[in-house]
Amino acid sequence: MKLNERGLLVVLSGPSGVGKGTVRKALFNMPEQNFVYSVSMTTRAKRPGEIDGVDYYFVSREEFEKRIREGKFLEYAEFVGNYYGTPLDKVEEQLQDGKEVILEIEVEGALQVRNKVKDAVLIFLVPPKKEALYTRLRSRGTESEEVIKERIQKANREFKLAYKYDYIVVNDEVVNAADRIMAIIRAEHAKTERSIHKYMKLIDED
Ligand code: 5GP
Repeated sequence: MKLNERGLLVVLSGPSGVGKGTVRKALFNMPEQNFVYSVSMTTRAKRPGEIDGVDYYFVSREEFEKRIREGKFLEYAEFVGNYYGTPLDKVEEQLQDGKEVILEIEVEGALQVRNKVKDAVLIFLVPPKKEALYTRLRSRGTESEEVIKERIQKANREFKLAYKYDYIVVNDEVVNAADRIMAIIRAEHAKTERSIHKYMKLIDED
């Protein structure tokens, strides 16, 4: 009998500027990983270097709102004036296929996932020091001072909801943060409630 394990739905959140994207990329470079990244849809303008269909699916507000009405999102939220959402198609299929599906999303959307997918694993990434956020946001050089301020205020509100997550991971060094996340994923797979029925089936076959 093949022990085909269902993949995990891993939600990675954290304040703007904490380095979620960099940590996610490091995860994809780990050996023996089985991750797929769920590309989100957004109405925000493309930043230089971003690619449609790779970083995001960039759509108009009308298109996004149409998809909301059609129930095509696993979750969605408005973040500093723009919509962001996880397209529903593919996620379930990839989980069934044994892939670990990574969602890199903000807090409001993460809490919607918590309510809809009970066994999702919610990880909140924090900086070693708060100043690290500001430095990173400014060094990106892609947002106006006003947007940066809004993002910082939003970061403070997001921090207050970190207690709703399953795990808090410090992003002191990208590789360390990725290692910690891998350890969480391995431990989650070993949880009795996730794996007991599989082994019970083996016993039944005797
Ligand atoms: P950014 O504009 O910096 O790419 O993203 C802004 C925020 O939106 C980040 O916290 C990012 O993780 C979050 N985000 C990206 N995609 C999604 C999504 O599909 N759903 C939700 N709820 N948030 C998202």
